[in-house]
Amino acid sequence: MINEESKSQLKQVVGEERFFDDPEEILSFSYDAFILTSEPDVVIYPITTEEVSGIMKIADRENIPVTCRGSGTNISAASLPVKKGIALCFTKMNRVIEVNTQDRYVIVEPGLINGELQKVLAQEGFFYPPDPGSINVSTIGGNIAQNAGGPRCLKYGVTSDYVLAMEVVLVSGKIVRVGSRNVKDVTGYKLSSLFCGSEGTLGIVTEATLRVVSIAESHRTILATYDDLEDTANTVADIIGSGILPAAMELMDKTVINVVADASGMSLPREAAGMLLIEIDGVEEAVEKEMNRIAEKARDNGARDVTVAHTQKESDDLWAARRLAYGAFARLAPNCIVEDVTVPVSNVPKMIKATREIADRYKLHLGILAHAGDGNMHPLIAHDPNDKDELKRIEQAAKEIFETGVSLGGTLSGEHGIGLAKAEFLPLVMNQDTLDLMADIKKTLDPKGILNPGKFV
Ligand SMILES: Cc1cc2nc3c(=O)[nH]c(=O)nc-3n(C[C@H](O)[C@H](O)[C@H](O)COP(=O)(O)OP(=O)(O)OC[C@H]3O[C@@H](n4cnc5c(N)ncnc54)[C@H](O)[C@@H]3O)c2cc1C
Repeated sequence: MINEESKSQLKQVVGEERFFDDPEEILSFSYDAFILTSEPDVVIYPITTEEVSGIMKIADRENIPVTCRGSGTNISAASLPVKKGIALCFTKMNRVIEVNTQDRYVIVEPGLINGELQKVLAQEGFFYPPDPGSINVSTIGGNIAQNAGGPRCLKYGVTSDYVLAMEVVLVSGKIVRVGSRNVKDVTGYKLSSLFCGSEGTLGIVTEATLRVVSIAESHRTILATYDDLEDTANTVADIIGSGILPAAMELMDKTVINVVADASGMSLPREAAGMLLIEIDGVEEAVEKEMNRIAEKARDNGARDVTVAHTQKESDDLWAARRLAYGAFARLAPNCIVEDVTVPVSNVPKMIKATREIADRYKLHLGILAHAGDGNMHPLIAHDPNDKDELKRIEQAAKEIFETGVSLGGTLSGEHGIGLAKAEFLPLVMNQDTLDLMADIKKTLDPKGILNPGKFV
């Protein structure tokens, strides 16, 4: 509980209108996109770095837990205020501060929605590559804290590859700046990489300088469909193994194809066992050549049909349909879990086969969606959280899926992070000394453990 004196001091920092403690008004902050709930004591919307610093000085002095929040779309319970305290919500701190295409960077505030940044950049012929499926709702601050990925990360890399510099408020309220706007910078420790992916447990991002990239001259979207899911997976490994690097290569199995077709109204190949949605970009001649090579590889691996989107609209519609997949699947049952195991791309076929086998054995309603080109698998499991037996089966199946991924040289999360959801599985991929190192870093930056407490460290 936060005492009345501290509440009044916090109110003085941001003003009455951006401070909330009415249980009804703060109820929605007890949730993120994962299945657990926990209510904060208060919700505060800062709009300046100085306000964040002022809030942290009070929280540090009074030992008040602080959990940052963007749009609450993370799927690992990372923004859940499990020890109550302050939910610090950044959605009103959302300005684009500078766009500099000559030096190829933008400076933004953490609450800016990724998709809004893309619109601003598109006007200049540029884009910011990290493109999570939640692009139209998730914030840059949340993307940085989760080191978010997305379809195009296959070719372009993930969020940490684009964070040049950050302003970070430490637990004590001190304001530090890490990195610089230079693409090349080896001045001291790369502290931006430490904060990126730290899930709001080490410091609070109040400003970010991000690298941006010019939009390629030419794009093509290819759709390949298969009668056998294994052929779909083999195509992925074959294309990547041959040295072709598409911008994106997404895989959907039959269950997901049908759910997406229902939700989008698009005519997708409902009978197919698997489908690949492949995007290539670059200069026109290279794109044309790669398109032909990809089509050949798809057919060699048993594709029954390979088509190319004829217009930009057709391509946009296909990608919009792909982005619907998780939301559409979630409509099938009261709840939906999205797993996030990543394996080396050569093991995608084995991982998909094993996942299907596990799902069948545990009788789960599971669909496979994958950023397949980088081995990032998202098994979607629709279920009823009131069905205790089903929950138990999901728990066991998820554990087997993680263990299989790790045994194939993979890891626990490609982009959704660990949060609370996967904390217990960390020893599968890290030995005790590595876990201790993370705990030591946490202790150095947050000795009292008030920043996003109760999570993976
Ligand atoms: C439909 C759907 C599709 C998705 N697709 C993808 C995908 O393709 N790729 C992917 O990577 N993820 C995906 N996600 C997961 C999610 O959108 C990402 O994790 C996203 O980065 C979270 O952003 P957010 O603004 O919602 O942050 P939140 O969920 O609010 O917070 C996430 C974490 O960031 C911390 N945080 C927020 N702001 C700050 C700050 N200013 N300083 C420090 N820490 C902060 C929070 O404490 C929390 O730990 C998807 C989610 C959904 C619902």
